[in-house]
Amino acid sequence: MSKAYQHFINGEVVQGTSGRASDIYNPSLGEVSGTVSLATTGEVDAAIAAAQAAFPEWSGMNPQRRARVMFKFKSLVEAHADELALILSEEHGKVLADSHGDIQRGLDVIEFACGIPHLMKGEYTQGAGPGIDVYSMRQAIGVVAGITPFNFPAMIPMWMFGVAIATGCTFILKPSEKDPGVPMRLAELMLEAGAPPGVLNVVNGDKEAVDAIIANPSVRAVSFVGSSDIAHYVYRSCAEHGKRVQAMGGAKNHGIILPDADMQQAVQDITGAAYGSAGERCMALSTVVAVGNETGDRFVDAMTKELDKLKVGISTDPKADYGPVVSSVHKEKIENYIQMGVDEGADLIVDGRNFSLQGYEKGFFVGPTLFDNVKPTMQSYKDEIFGPVLQVLREDNFETALQRPSDHQYGNGVAIFTRSGGAARDFAQRVNVGMVGINVPIPVPVAYHSFGGWKRSAFGDANQHGMEGVRFYTQTKTVTQRWPDGETQNAAFSIPVME
Ligand code: NAD
Repeated sequence: MSKAYQHFINGEVVQGTSGRASDIYNPSLGEVSGTVSLATTGEVDAAIAAAQAAFPEWSGMNPQRRARVMFKFKSLVEAHADELALILSEEHGKVLADSHGDIQRGLDVIEFACGIPHLMKGEYTQGAGPGIDVYSMRQAIGVVAGITPFNFPAMIPMWMFGVAIATGCTFILKPSEKDPGVPMRLAELMLEAGAPPGVLNVVNGDKEAVDAIIANPSVRAVSFVGSSDIAHYVYRSCAEHGKRVQAMGGAKNHGIILPDADMQQAVQDITGAAYGSAGERCMALSTVVAVGNETGDRFVDAMTKELDKLKVGISTDPKADYGPVVSSVHKEKIENYIQMGVDEGADLIVDGRNFSLQGYEKGFFVGPTLFDNVKPTMQSYKDEIFGPVLQVLREDNFETALQRPSDHQYGNGVAIFTRSGGAARDFAQRVNVGMVGINVPIPVPVAYHSFGGWKRSAFGDANQHGMEGVRFYTQTKTVTQRWPDGETQNAAFSIPVME
C-alpha cells in the first residue's frame, strides 16, 4: 500500500496543503513506495504556534511527571520496535538488525532523559554576602527545532527531542524527506505516552520548511544534523536570527593501524565499521591508515578475503550484512567517486560498481569497494563518499599517520588499533578529532556522554545528548536574594561587593 505522509501538528495528522510532495523509495526494490508532503511556511508557523501554546503547561509541570512520560514513551517504542524497524529498513535500506540498533541508540538517550529531575537541579550558595543567598536554576529555553538527516531516522530525532522535551521544551521536528515514516510514528507514540498535543510536532519538508523554522522568532534553538555545507548554512542563518544553534556535519573517519595491532580483530572491526549500513553512517570508518608497508600488505590481503564473504542483500534479508544505499542519485554519486579514485591513480582492489542482485536488479545496491595506495592529495580522499568504499593510505610512521586525521577537513571520529597503551594514549591526546576509539572502531559515545565532532563535522559549540544536550535546551537563571531584617540600608552608588 502506498503511503502519503502528512504532518503531525498539535497531536493530529494534518493534511499538507502546499501541493508539493516528494517521493519515498524502497531502495531494495528501487521503486517509489509513497510520498511525503512538503510544508509551506504557513504550515511550519502553525506547528510552531502549537508548540508555543503547549510550552507554559509542559515546562511548568514538575520534572518527575515529564520523566514519567519519557518512561512510558520508552516502553511504547520497545513494544513497537519490530514495526518501527520494518518501516525504517524499507525506507532507508539498512538491514533489520541495524534498524533495531538505530532505535536502541535513540532509546538510550530517552533512558538518559528519564533522569531529568536530577539533571536539571540547580546550585545554591548560602551566605554569599551578609544575609544574601544565591541560587541558580535551569529552565527550558522554549520552542526548539530539530532538523535531521536520512541516515538515522530513529536515533537522531531521539537524540534531540528526547532531551529537549524532558527539560520542558516543546519541539518541532523536520525529518529527512527520504524516510519520514519512523519520525511520524515516534510523534504518535509520544502523544500516547502522555505528552500533551503540541509538545512534539513533525513538519515534513525541504529547504522551505527549514528556512521557515529559522526565520520564526518563536523558535529559540535549532539542532541540525546533516551534510557540512547545509550544516554551515543552518549555523550561519540561525546566528543571523539570534538563535542558539548546534549543527553537525559530514565526516571522514580514519582507522590507524599500528604494526603491533591484533590484525585479525582489526580486520573484523573495520569490516563492520566500513561497510555496515552501506557506509552511510557519519561514524563509518571509511579510511584506513596503515603504518608501515608490511602492515598495509597484511591488512589489504586480509580485507580482500573478508570482502569475498560479505553478503549484500535486501534490507529485510536476515542474512544480509548490508543493504542498498538510499537513492539512485546517491548510488551514482558513490560510483562517480570510485571512478575518481581510479582516475587519480589509487589502486582499486575490489570494485563494487555494477553490482546487481538477482531479482532486485532495480535496487540501489553498491558492492563493497576497496582502494589501496590512496594519497592525501586526492579529491576522493578529501571528500566524504558516504558509501561502502574503504580507502587505504600507507604511512611510514606514527607521526605522519597521526597527521592524516588531524589535517583532514572533517574531525568526527577516529580509531587507533594497537597493543601499545603508550601509543594509544599519546594518539588520543594529540589527534585533532572529536571522538576517539582505542581498539573500538565506531566510538559513538554512550548517551550520558556527549556526541560531537570537530572542524567541519560540527558548527557551534554544544554537543548532542549527555549534559551538553541538557545545557543546550535550557538556560540558567541566577537569583541573588536578601530578606529584609528591619534595618534600612543607605543607597549604594558603587557596584555592590560582597563583604
Ligand atoms: P542533508 O544535508 O542532505 O539533509 C539533512 C537535512 O537538511 C534534511 O532534513 C534535509 O531536508 C535538509 N536540507 C537539505 N537540503 C537543504 C537546504 N538546501 N537547505 C536547508 N535544509 C536542507 O544530509 P543527508 O543526506 O540527509 O544525511 C547525510 C549527511 O549527514 C552526511 O554528510 C553525514 O555525514 C551527515 N551526518 C552527520 C552526523 C553527525 O552527527 N555529524 C550524523 C548523521 C549524519
